[in-house]
Amino acid sequence: MPLPRHLAGFALYALLPILLPGCDRPAPPPVELGVPWELAEHRHRTISDLAYRFELEVPAGRGDPIQGRATIAFQRHDPDGFDLVLDFMRPGERVRSVRAKGAEVAWTAVEDHVVIPAASLEEGRNEVEVAFTAGDEALNRNDDFLYSLFVPDRAHFALPVFDQPNLKAAVAWSLRVPAGWEAVANGALGEAVDAPEWRTLEFLPSKPLPTYLFAFAAGAFSVEEALVDGRAMRMYHRETDAAKLARNRDAVFRLHGEALAWLEEYTAIPYPFDTFDFVLIPSFQYGGMEHPGAIFYNASGLLLDESATQGQILGRASVIAHETAHMWFGDLVTMDWFDDVWTKEVFANFMAARIVHPSFPDVDHALRFLTAHHPAAYGVDRTKGANPIRQPLENLREAGTLYGAIIYQKAPVVMQQLEARVGEDAFRAGVREYLSAHAYGNATWPDLVAVLDRLSPEDLTAWSRVWVEEPGRPVVTVSREGLDAVITQADAAGRGRVWPQTLQVRVGRERGDTLVPVELGAAPARLAGMGGDDVRFVLPNGSGVEYGLFLLDTASLAYLADSLPALESGLARGAAWVTLWDQVLEQRLAPARFLDLALTALPRERDDLALARVLGYLSSAWWGLLPDSVRAGRAVEVEGVLWQGVTSDRPRTARSAFLAAWRGMALTPAAVARMERLWRGTETLPGIPLAEADYTALATALAVREVEGWRDILDEQERRIANPDRKARFRFVRPSLDADPSVRLAFFESLKDPANREREPWVLSGLENLHHPLRAGSALPTVRPALDMLEEIQRTGDIFFPGRWLDATLAHHTETEAADEVRRYLEERPELPPRLRAKVLQSADGLWRSAAILHGWR
Ligand SMILES: [Zn+2]
Repeated sequence: MPLPRHLAGFALYALLPILLPGCDRPAPPPVELGVPWELAEHRHRTISDLAYRFELEVPAGRGDPIQGRATIAFQRHDPDGFDLVLDFMRPGERVRSVRAKGAEVAWTAVEDHVVIPAASLEEGRNEVEVAFTAGDEALNRNDDFLYSLFVPDRAHFALPVFDQPNLKAAVAWSLRVPAGWEAVANGALGEAVDAPEWRTLEFLPSKPLPTYLFAFAAGAFSVEEALVDGRAMRMYHRETDAAKLARNRDAVFRLHGEALAWLEEYTAIPYPFDTFDFVLIPSFQYGGMEHPGAIFYNASGLLLDESATQGQILGRASVIAHETAHMWFGDLVTMDWFDDVWTKEVFANFMAARIVHPSFPDVDHALRFLTAHHPAAYGVDRTKGANPIRQPLENLREAGTLYGAIIYQKAPVVMQQLEARVGEDAFRAGVREYLSAHAYGNATWPDLVAVLDRLSPEDLTAWSRVWVEEPGRPVVTVSREGLDAVITQADAAGRGRVWPQTLQVRVGRERGDTLVPVELGAAPARLAGMGGDDVRFVLPNGSGVEYGLFLLDTASLAYLADSLPALESGLARGAAWVTLWDQVLEQRLAPARFLDLALTALPRERDDLALARVLGYLSSAWWGLLPDSVRAGRAVEVEGVLWQGVTSDRPRTARSAFLAAWRGMALTPAAVARMERLWRGTETLPGIPLAEADYTALATALAVREVEGWRDILDEQERRIANPDRKARFRFVRPSLDADPSVRLAFFESLKDPANREREPWVLSGLENLHHPLRAGSALPTVRPALDMLEEIQRTGDIFFPGRWLDATLAHHTETEAADEVRRYLEERPELPPRLRAKVLQSADGLWRSAAILHGWR
C-alpha cells in the first residue's frame, strides 16, 4: 500500500507501530468518535470476505423504533490479536445483544463503537450477530415512508457496520414493512410474503458495496415499470398529479437507457450490478444519490412542469447521467478513503457532460460545459476559503466537509484539461484499464495518475500537484505591448506556483475571431501582432475550458463592455460574460455599466444557455451590487426588458427563464399587481401554462413584497396544493413569509431544535425567505446565531447542509453590519475546524464584496 499523501506530515506516527512502555506489542488503533484513518487501515489489513445481512422490522408509526438484527460474516487475520471494533452510534442504548461463536459476547461500548473482545472471535472465519434498535438519524422517517441516506459516514448512525469505503461487502436486506407498503433495496428482490398486517421482502445479496452505498426505501410509493433496451427498470414515486407523471415518465426511463448504453460503450464494461431501480423522493437532500439497485433522486428534478426552462431540462438529463455514471465510477471502483471522494464526482460530472450530447443535438455543449462548471467553481476559488480538489482527511466523520463546488465543478474542468493533455484515446484506454484493474474494489487518485502517466509523455504528477493538490486559480493577465499581446500568469498567494495550461486565446478583429493556442507556463507568452489597434479584444478563455482569474487589458475590457452582444459565437459570449463578471467583482468594471450591458444583451440573446447566465448575473448585480437608489430608478426599465422576454416569440423554455427572472426582480407596483393577476388567473400567459410550483413561487414573491391580502393569498395557495408532501413543505415554510418580523424571527428560533431541521430543503427555503433582499435588514439579528449553530449543523446535517445553511443565511446580505458580524465571528472562533472556517470564508465572499462595492467596507 503506498503512503497516502495526506498522511505524509505525520507518517511516523501513523505507520510505525507505537510501542507501549514496558511492552513489545504495538498499540491498538485508536477507538475514538468517528472512524479515524488508523482504525480504518487496521481493519482493512485484518478483515476480508465481508458480508452483511440486515433484518429490519419497520413499524407503521414514524416514532416507533425499528428493531433489527445484523449478521456480519468475515475472515479475520489479526496477528496482534486486537479487539474488534464495530461502528454503531449510541451502542449503549441500542445494542440488545452481540453473539459470536454461538455464545453471548461481553462487548463494551466506546463512543460510537461496539468493541468485541478478541477472545470471542476466531482467527479466520467469523460470524457476529447483533440484535439492535436502529438509529433514526440517517433513516429520514416520514409518516408513510422512509429512506436511508448513509453517505459519507452515516451507515453506522443506523446500523452496526465497519463504516469505511474500502471494506466492501455484499449486503442482503430483509425488510418487514406494514401491509400495502413498497420497498426497494440494493439487491434483487428474492421473495415477498404478504400477511394481513405485514409484508416481508427478502432481497438477494448485492455485489460488493461500500457501506455508504447501502440503501433501502420503504413506504407508500407508486411503481412504474419499463423495459429499456431489454433491461427492466422500476421507478418508485409519490407523485399524485397523473398528468405530470405521464408527461415525464418516458423521458425519465429513456434518459437512463441512453446513459447506460453510453457508459457500457465508453468503459467496455457491462452494467456491473443486478437491478436498476430508482426512487423519486420529495424534498430529497441532494439532486441524486447513486445506490446500486436503488438510485434516489429529488422528485422535483425529474418530474418537470410544462413551464420548465432549458436549464431544468438539461439539469434532469445531467443528474440522471451523473448517477448512472457512478455505477462504474464510485460504485464498481470506489475510492480507498474519502480524501479521494472527488475522483468519483469528477468522473460522474465529466461523463455526464458527454452522455447528454446525443440527447440534445441542438445544444452548444462547450457552452453548456462552461456555464455548468466555471461560475460555480470560481464562486469558491475566488474566495479566501478556497480548498484544493484533493483534501486530507484524518477521520471519516469530517468527510462531509470535503464536498462542494471544487470537487463537483472545478474537478471536471481539470479533468477536461487532463484529457486534452493526454489525448482522448489514451485517456479512455487509461480509464478502462483503471476500472477493470480495480473492479468491485478500491483505488486512489495516484493509481489513476500512474496509469495515465504510462500512456502519455506528459509529466502528470507535476501537473496534478498544482491543479489537484493546491487551492485557488492562476491570475492570468493580458496586456498590450506595441503590436503584440502579452499574457502572463501569477500566483495571488505569492507562492510562485505555476499552473501549466493550454489557452485557446480568442482574438477579435473586424473580420472575425481567431483562436490562438498558447501554452502558458512560468514565462510570459507573447502573441506577435495580436495587440495592435485592429484587435478589438483579446479573450484568454476562448474555448471556455480555460481556468483562472482572467484580467483583461483596458482596450479589450472597454470593447466587450459595450459590444459583447455582437460576438457571433454563443461560446464566445458565454466566456466573455464569465470573464466580465470577474472584472466587476475585481472592481475593474462598474456594476451599473454591467447592468447597461445586460439590458442591451437580453433582447438579442438567442442561446438559452447564454441567456440563463446573463439573467443569473443580472439578478446578482441587481440585489447585491447596486444601491437602492439605482434599483428604484431603473426598475421600470429592467422589468420592461424582462417582461418583453416573457411575451416574446421565443421558445417556451426561454420565456419561462425570463418569467422566473422577472418574478425574482420585480419591484414596481405595476409589476407586483401583474404578479397578483397571474397568481389569481385573471391574466394568463399564452403558451406558458403555469404549474403548481409557479403559483407557489408567485404567492411567495407576493408575500415577501407584502401586498395587501398577503395572508389570504398564502391561505389560498396552501389550499391549492393537492400533493400532501408539497403541502407539508408549504406549511412548514409559511412563517418565514409572514409580514410580522417577530413571526419570522420565531421561525428562525424554531430551527434551533434539530427535529425542525430534519427536512433540509424546507429549512433552506425558509431561510431564503427570511433573508430575502427586501427583508434582509430585519433578518440581521439571526446572522450571528446562525453562524454559532454551524458546528451543530455539521454534526446533525447531511453533507451539503453546512455550506447551504451559510449560503442561505449570507448570500442576500450586503450591509456592513453583516460583513462585520461574520468577520467578528471568525476572529472570536480561532478554534473553528479549518474546513468549516473555509466554508464560512466561501459563503461570506459575496457579502464582503457587496459591502466593499456598495459601502466601501474593508
Ligand atoms: Zn455524485
